[in-house]
Amino acid sequence: MNKYDPALLEQWDKEYVWHPFTQMQQYTREKPLIIARGEGSYLIDVEGNRYLDGVSSLWVTVHGHCHSALNRAIKEQLDKIAHSTLLGLANIPSILLAKKLVEITPPGLNKVFYSDAGATAVEIALKMAFQYWQQKEGGRFRNKTKFISLVEAYHGDTIGSVSVGGISLFHGIFKPLLFECLHAPAPYCYRCPLEKERENCGMACADRLEELLKEHHQEVAAVIIEPLVQGAAGMITAPDGFLRRVRELCTRYNVLLIADEVAVGFGRTGRLFACEHEGVSPDLMCLAKGITGGYLPLAATLTTDEVYSAFLGKPEEGKTFYHGHTYTGNPLACAAALASIELFEKENLLAALQPKIELLHRKLDSFWELPHVGDIRQRGMMVGIELVADKRTKQPYPMEEQVGHRVILEARQRGLVIRPLDNVIVLMPVLTMSEEELNQVLEITYESIAVVTGK
Ligand code: PMP
Repeated sequence: MNKYDPALLEQWDKEYVWHPFTQMQQYTREKPLIIARGEGSYLIDVEGNRYLDGVSSLWVTVHGHCHSALNRAIKEQLDKIAHSTLLGLANIPSILLAKKLVEITPPGLNKVFYSDAGATAVEIALKMAFQYWQQKEGGRFRNKTKFISLVEAYHGDTIGSVSVGGISLFHGIFKPLLFECLHAPAPYCYRCPLEKERENCGMACADRLEELLKEHHQEVAAVIIEPLVQGAAGMITAPDGFLRRVRELCTRYNVLLIADEVAVGFGRTGRLFACEHEGVSPDLMCLAKGITGGYLPLAATLTTDEVYSAFLGKPEEGKTFYHGHTYTGNPLACAAALASIELFEKENLLAALQPKIELLHRKLDSFWELPHVGDIRQRGMMVGIELVADKRTKQPYPMEEQVGHRVILEARQRGLVIRPLDNVIVLMPVLTMSEEELNQVLEITYESIAVVTGK
């Protein structure tokens, strides 16, 4: 028996693996795409077929697959130690990476707390914000126990991060398990929840956030948002100035701001961090996904001296932050992250991104001519193309038509791997993808949409 036989692997995948965010009844009826290798912008399956990676393997890949510098950094660290612990001990890569993260993130973020996934980075930010107010100035602010997030927010799949989530399809069923969270409207201009027109709305959604804060600030610990783009909700891009306004409101009402940069961090929006576009320094920042260039699981929650200082005291005072995951600050992952950040600098990646972002913008313009493309949202190297049953009324396609899914199956046949969010076609190209490859991604996407929804 050859255990690498594609047919056997397919059988065992269907028999044993339960895939995330996947309706398994549907999945097991289709042929799975089993990846064996990666090379630059390409994924290569067990039969040797090559596919452009149009979603950076779930929004993480920065410098391409199997990059020699990243491979080398991991192998060098592997020959020293694969894992120790940060509970009572320290390790070299986690120290060097923390120093680097403090240097490259917005001013004021001076302390780094490690974990291993975006959701854990968010859990940590929520718990830190909560405990900060419990302990600050002898408990004077103990009533600040609630959170505000946006409708359509996505911050991960653990109970805390789901509590601040706002996507009913994903989060609705867990409601009885969750803690209370106040929601402000999403800046979803294509389907404005306040039924305003983009041109003259005066950012009424931010006004709603202000109303919430005005009423509740004495019981609110923090506002959490995805800066610039609400990714999992379908790449909802906020209008310019929205993030800055949220920062101002948090400061005015004495509430912490948690920036969840898990999806938008590390170059995705064209700057190293999305907060930079609006000169915003949050009180807590969550990083994961692209932090290791997409190679190993790692996350970090950064915060300020002010937040950190509320946790200082004698052991018996009970101010310690009692939180820590076993693989926290894993040396292999930290070594990969250090090498990835070094590549950003060495290869001048951010400057090289600008023409690609413009190319995407130019080429996406032609997608408007397709009869069922309702909206096109782009921020840097993040794109959402919303397909609708009726362009005039913005009537969505019914879920049972599986339009997004059918488009990605067409794309796959043409050599492109993408993954939709319902009927929003998502493009998250590998950041080092060449212009020629990007053109191919766009051509295949256009054709696949046209085949499924008509020209
Ligand atoms: N926050 C945001 C904004 C995300 O997009 C995601 C993942 N898509 C997460 C948190 C959760 O990250 P992870 O899947 O690594 O837990």
